[in-house]
Amino acid sequence: MHRIVILGGGTGGTLTANRLRKAYRQDEASVTVVDQDDTHLYQPGLLFVPFGLARPDDITRPRGRQLHDGIEYRATGVDRVETERREVVLEDGSTLGYDALVVATGSVLAPEETDGLTGPGWMERVFTFYTLDGAVGLEQALQRFDGGRLVVNVVDMPIKCPVAPLEFCFLADWYLRERGIRDAVDLTYVTPLDAAFTMPIAAQRLGGMLADRHITLVTEFNTGAVDGAGGRLISYDDREIGFDLAVVVPAHNGAPCIARSPGLGDELGFVPTDQHTLQSSVAPEIFAVGDAASLPISKAGSVTHFEGEVLVENVQRFLAGEPLDASYDGHANCFIETGFHKAMLIDFNYDVEPLPGHFPGPVGLPLMQETHLNHLGKLMFQWLYWHTLLPGRDIPGVHSSMPMSGKRQPSETREGAAL
Ligand SMILES: Cc1cc2nc3c(=O)[nH]c(=O)nc-3n(C[C@H](O)[C@H](O)[C@H](O)COP(=O)(O)OP(=O)(O)OC[C@H]3O[C@@H](n4cnc5c(N)ncnc54)[C@H](O)[C@@H]3O)c2cc1C
Repeated sequence: MHRIVILGGGTGGTLTANRLRKAYRQDEASVTVVDQDDTHLYQPGLLFVPFGLARPDDITRPRGRQLHDGIEYRATGVDRVETERREVVLEDGSTLGYDALVVATGSVLAPEETDGLTGPGWMERVFTFYTLDGAVGLEQALQRFDGGRLVVNVVDMPIKCPVAPLEFCFLADWYLRERGIRDAVDLTYVTPLDAAFTMPIAAQRLGGMLADRHITLVTEFNTGAVDGAGGRLISYDDREIGFDLAVVVPAHNGAPCIARSPGLGDELGFVPTDQHTLQSSVAPEIFAVGDAASLPISKAGSVTHFEGEVLVENVQRFLAGEPLDASYDGHANCFIETGFHKAMLIDFNYDVEPLPGHFPGPVGLPLMQETHLNHLGKLMFQWLYWHTLLPGRDIPGVHSSMPMSGKRQPSETREGAAL
């Protein structure tokens, strides 16, 4: 009997476990998921919490309940992987041997890596909405905020969902207008990138949307320190940006258990992974999915979902001694909430940047356009997440390979879409 062990029971670990459980009879393979806590958080919902549009209870569910019958769930931390021995060492001291290992431990925020970020002012006038506590604290801070300088800052790349800080800006503009205090607020978006986003067509479109809303864009700002008490972001090249309220997306690393595993992670603790098969370059029996994988594409739930489909096929092929399927093309898509009950959808992959048109085909959701339909799509996605994506069901018409049908300007391609 094959022993399949999955580290992490978030988006990638859960959908992978449920798909693998369906693929094998109980007497053919055991599927074990290890996670350190029992609360599954729908992370895209964090965006809405600061604006009072979602409550913590709306976006959290018990983790174990998202796993199908026949999957063993170990609620404990992973200490490390001993790749030579093909063994996972758990924090409770026990070990798990495996024939195939799926690393789905995501990414962790590292606010302590930026001088002063977690010092005076942290969770008082400096917040992040990338954690549930931070998003809840920010909701209260925004309610108290009556005007002044509101700064949204991305410290470093890569981050999960690179459009989320832009969405925060668009929603903040909407929220402040609803409260009638938009004219009393200087809203600034501060990014280490040289534009609002990485890929030329999307960067131009999103940069234009910031300008339309009178949101100042500051580029190539590498935050070296945050002075919460004094209300200043300070870059490595000694530029300063003052704030009364700062919303910071801290640097991200791979999970610490990867760094503790000899030879498993790169310098940031992400797992070097083949971008088409999802097999790690560390050992053939180790695969990586989602944020944990070091790949030249966004760290996003959609990416995790599309990767998962190919990864599940390849775990089966590996265990059967067959050649792997190298079909993952970097497919990613994202609804970008833009305020005023509208959203924009982008769809792209390793080679093709977001293009206008429709998704998933000529008749479908509009791409690169702010529409109410896309806003409804963004809201409906939470239902799809719990009821279709996590249980490992297919979403009709949506596949791991990026569709070109429905897109315009298909001849435009680019090198390396790393976000
Ligand atoms: C604010 C925000 C908005 C977002 N919006 C979107 C969006 O609109 N669209 C989109 O596609 N994506 C979005 N994302 C990104 C998306 O949520 C993630 O990319 C996705 O959840 C990654 O899945 P994962 O399985 O790799 O990691 P996760 O879902 O984070 O799961 C990792 C799991 O590993 C576990 N783990 C880690 N270390 C250990 C250990 N040592 N022992 C045991 N368990 C461990 C963790 O507890 C966790 O459950 C957003 C993220 C944020 C923060």
